[in-house]
Amino acid sequence: MVNIQEKLDSVRFRINDQSHIILNKERCAECKERPCLFCCPAGLFTLSGNEVIHTCLGCLECGTCYVICANNGIDWNYPDGGFGVSFREA
Ligand code: SF4
Repeated sequence: MVNIQEKLDSVRFRINDQSHIILNKERCAECKERPCLFCCPAGLFTLSGNEVIHTCLGCLECGTCYVICANNGIDWNYPDGGFGVSFREA
């Protein structure tokens, strides 16, 4: 049987100075539902006061946040080459 936690523990990240996900603060402020707070499997969207904030540390590059945002508030790109998630250790 696959142990999900073991799989997640084997994931490695190499973080770039440039975030590959940028939130549009104006559009986020207009959004009432804020599905990103609940749908990111890594839990990388949180509230600071009433503002949605995001960190790329731990991003699985699944694209869920981009797809779920109906307000077009997320500028999503893959990280630059050599950065981002590695699902298998070398
Ligand atoms: Fe979370 Fe996936 Fe978006 Fe990364 S791409 S922030 S893991 S929902």
